[in-house]
Amino acid sequence: MDPNQQQQQLHVVFLPFLAQGHMIPITDMARLFARHGVKSTIITTPLNAPLFSGKIDRDAQLGLQIRTHVVEFPAAEAGLPEGCENLSRANESFEMVVTFYKSMELLRRPVEELLQQWRPDCLVADFPFHWASESARKLDIPRLYFNATGSFAMCLCECLNRHQPHKRVESDSEPFLLPGLPHEIRVTRGRIPGEFRPEVNDDDPSVKELRDLMLESEVTSYGVVVNSFYELEPGYPEHYKHEMGRKAWFIGPLSLSNKDDMKHKAERGDSAAAIDRHESCLRWLDSKEPNSVIYICFGSIPIPFNADQLREIAAALETLLSRQISFIWVVKKEEWLPEGFEERITEGGKGLVIRGWAPQVLILDHGAIGGFVTHCGWNSTLEGVCAGVPMVTWPLQAEQFLNEKLVTDVLKIGVGVGAEEWSIQERKIIVGREEIQSAITRVMVGEEAEEMRSRARKLKEIAVMANEEGGSSYFDMELLVQELTDLRDKRNNDGCSKS
Ligand code: UDP
Repeated sequence: MDPNQQQQQLHVVFLPFLAQGHMIPITDMARLFARHGVKSTIITTPLNAPLFSGKIDRDAQLGLQIRTHVVEFPAAEAGLPEGCENLSRANESFEMVVTFYKSMELLRRPVEELLQQWRPDCLVADFPFHWASESARKLDIPRLYFNATGSFAMCLCECLNRHQPHKRVESDSEPFLLPGLPHEIRVTRGRIPGEFRPEVNDDDPSVKELRDLMLESEVTSYGVVVNSFYELEPGYPEHYKHEMGRKAWFIGPLSLSNKDDMKHKAERGDSAAAIDRHESCLRWLDSKEPNSVIYICFGSIPIPFNADQLREIAAALETLLSRQISFIWVVKKEEWLPEGFEERITEGGKGLVIRGWAPQVLILDHGAIGGFVTHCGWNSTLEGVCAGVPMVTWPLQAEQFLNEKLVTDVLKIGVGVGAEEWSIQERKIIVGREEIQSAITRVMVGEEAEEMRSRARKLKEIAVMANEEGGSSYFDMELLVQELTDLRDKRNNDGCSKS
């Protein structure tokens, strides 16, 4: 690139929260920006960089202007165990999770120094970096806010915040209407996100303070980039922009936007962990009939399921084998499973248990996968949509119960397993084997399953089109790059006329 072009090129800096559910979409976003001619720099810490640097290096070798910049993360200074640089390592207790969120403050000084040195044209920072809007504004850099969920959940949260309907019900299980939204959405107090729950906020005022700072930084940022597409959340992008008054660009689904090959997909989220595994996994899937395998995965953060719950899941899956429904079940490395279960199901290749990190997108895309049991993390929800598979929704915490509503009530591409308990601690309410079997059967076989599958496939086609030239996400991406270019030019002109 000649020096003139280099000067013309926009430079965007990306600051993802230290959790796979955030680093995965932001890495994809940085790569997408680079494909639109932008110079992209991702800031992360030493133990997180290897999780995605393989992809970045390959893109750079292809000639894209993209790189990772590593800054130290002094975990011990924040009161975290040495080497605790990722939310998945901090999930041992609620207090540790809060400490981890608060520790993002430690990145403020090094990031501000880098911004001062680089003077980029934009900073895309995740929601826990509430200080980023101010850091960017001091240098006249627009900060874009990202929070790894869709506009449906963001609109519902704003509605809860504005109207406080959850404060007017008698019990946690009494349904109430969320007013003023594009659909009639009813929820219960027992299933709304933690920030609206007294039991999560009241003991420690600093938790509320942190939450308020993060919410405020959405409003004070220049705008919001959303990993979604207009057609997925009918009416909500418009509601988010016009009713809530946010400047926003819908540029997803980011899992599709770089048209990744098998190697990229296999490495998604953990370059090292999944790489050896994906071939055996695909071979196993190749041996199965189309739509005959259910994929079960509860995201990247270890879930405190107790032995009783794991026993119920295992029993349901074993019963379903006799009905020609096979499975891939992703469990954490150290998770307990009933005695003899793994041996029994591995024998004859009946089912597959993956311990640790699974190549999720690659698995979901395989024709043998007929359904997905998901915790409704936003990335997983989108990946299910992009694979065109119906889902069994099993939300656990965060905004996952809201995402469930989109899947089951609005898009009608999934059924709930009947999860009722919002908790980040070990759960008390067990979902029984009959409920699990029945929900999986509903999405895998029969007329209802076919109807959901056909709706899911249509959405998949729309998701692909959204990312093609002329598609809604492509269009928003172009608008965003143009706006950032105009802002940069205006800044430069203002600078010239002042000097
Ligand atoms: N993921 C994966 N393999 C795993 C577990 C998770 O590839 O074994 C990926 C998954 O594809 C998704 C992300 O990790 O992109 C999880 O994000 P999500 O928002 O679904 O849930 P979270 O982990 O943030 O709760």
